[in-house]
Parts: sequence; structure tokens; C-alpha cells
Amino acid sequence: MKTILDIENLHASINDVNILKGVNLNIKAGEIHVIMGTNGAGKSTLASVIMGHPKYQVLDGSVYFNNENLLEMKVDERARAGVFLAMQYPSELPGVSNVQFIKSAINAKRDKDDQIKLLNFYRIFKEKANTMKISDDYTNRSVNEGYSGGEKKRNEIFQMLLLEPKLVILDEIDSGLDIDAIKVVGENVTNYFNEHIRDTAILIITHYPRILEYIKPDYVHVLHDGKIIKTGDFALAQKLEKDGYDWILQK
Ligand code: ADP
Ligand code: MG
Repeated sequence: MKTILDIENLHASINDVNILKGVNLNIKAGEIHVIMGTNGAGKSTLASVIMGHPKYQVLDGSVYFNNENLLEMKVDERARAGVFLAMQYPSELPGVSNVQFIKSAINAKRDKDDQIKLLNFYRIFKEKANTMKISDDYTNRSVNEGYSGGEKKRNEIFQMLLLEPKLVILDEIDSGLDIDAIKVVGENVTNYFNEHIRDTAILIITHYPRILEYIKPDYVHVLHDGKIIKTGDFALAQKLEKDGYDWILQK
């Protein structure tokens, strides 16, 4: 399978503090990778650098997405190319309705003379809202305004389903979700992935194996002090839940 994301020797900082200190990660189409690690390890930093958040400085290394140099692209260019980040703390956008927001995001990815037809848009919007178990009053509410933590997370996956990205990064998507919502999120991500498996990959950041029972990973990496210090499979995630991180860090 072709490589979707290729990160080599990535070093990055925020406010002159070095956070990523040589990350190497290669993700191919059809693969699900997980990053675990203690608080402050640099997991969200890695996600933000891939997405192109301007507050991080890349000091060294490279990030390629489908053979394109991501580091030379702006956030919106990365999004249009098919990189999607469900943030650990999704932003509220008062005054921007879910419909407006998602419609402009979809149209931004399409040619000017090929904008999505309204009827078509509403059909897909309704269909995905149904599978995400999102209620109808949602359509005209402002994006994430007044949402509970779990509703925001569900909304991130809803956006993902409509935007159809090729690289899906989920930063602690399971935090704040109740048990039923984890199932809804997990099953929808897995269904999406299975339908797009030839050209899509997933990177999940999590502390808990529960979500991985729905989204079965191929690789589990431990990020510590800005570097990947161990790679395994689902069994590694289970061992970390049982034994914590000390046994790796003390070596
Ligand atoms: P994780 O997601 O693994 O918990 P983060 O990537 O969010 O970790 O943070 C990595 C480190 O970067 C933490 O030690 C955090 O305190 C630090 N950090 C985050 N933002 C800033 C900032 N604005 N200035 C300095 N350090 C920061
Ligand atoms: Mg984080």
C-alpha cells in the first residue's frame, strides 16, 4: 500500500520550548496507528504540527502527505488536500451554524464550477447526522456553542464523515464520551475507514484501549519526551492500561 504520511526526524517547539525531538512515523493507506503517552509527552503537539497550527515552529525534519511536502502548505491547504484533525479541545464558533460551516468546508475542497447542490448536501447531512445519532435541531445551531464535551467530540466525527479526509487524526476523541457515544464514534470511524481503506489512514491519540476495541489498530506507539520510544500492537495498549508507563520509562 502507498504511504499516506511520512514523518522523518521531526523537531518542533512552542515558545522556544522544544517539544518534539526527532519523531519518525510512516503510515500507509489502510493502516490504523495509535499514539499513547503520559501527559505532556507531545502528542497534541505532533497532531497540531501535522495540521499546521501556526503557533508551533518546525525546527528540523520533514512531513510528507501523499508525497506532498506538508510543511510548505498552510492549514487550509492541508485540509483541502485531505488532512483532518479532530482536536482534543474543539473550538466554539458562535454565529456560524453547523450547516454553513460544513457546506463551506465541503465547497472549499471542490472546484468553483462544481459546488455541492443544496439538495444533495442536505441529504448527506441528514444521513450522517442519523448515523451519528445527532438530533435535527442541530442543523442551525452554532458550531459547538454550548455543547457538552461529548457533543463536541461527536460533532468532530460528523464533520469528518462529511469532509471525507484521507488522513484522519483523532486527538483524545474518546475523552468526555459516554459509553454509548464511544460506540457510535468508534463504529462510524471504522465504517468510514473500511469504505475508504485504499487511500485512507487513521492516527488515534488516546489514553485508553476502550475506543480501540471499536477501531482496531495495526500499530501502537508510545511517545515520550518528544520521541517514539516503543512500538507494538493492541497488546501494548492493553499492557499500558494494566501496568502504566514506568516499566518502559525506567529502561
Ligand atoms: P500531550 O498532548 O502529550 O499531553 P502536549 O503536546 O499538549 O502534550 O504538550 C507537550 C508539552 O508542551 C507540555 O509539556 C506542555 O506544557 C508544553 N506546552 C504546550 N503549550 C505550551 C506553550 N504555549 N508554551 C510552553 N510550553 C507549552
Ligand atoms: Mg494532548
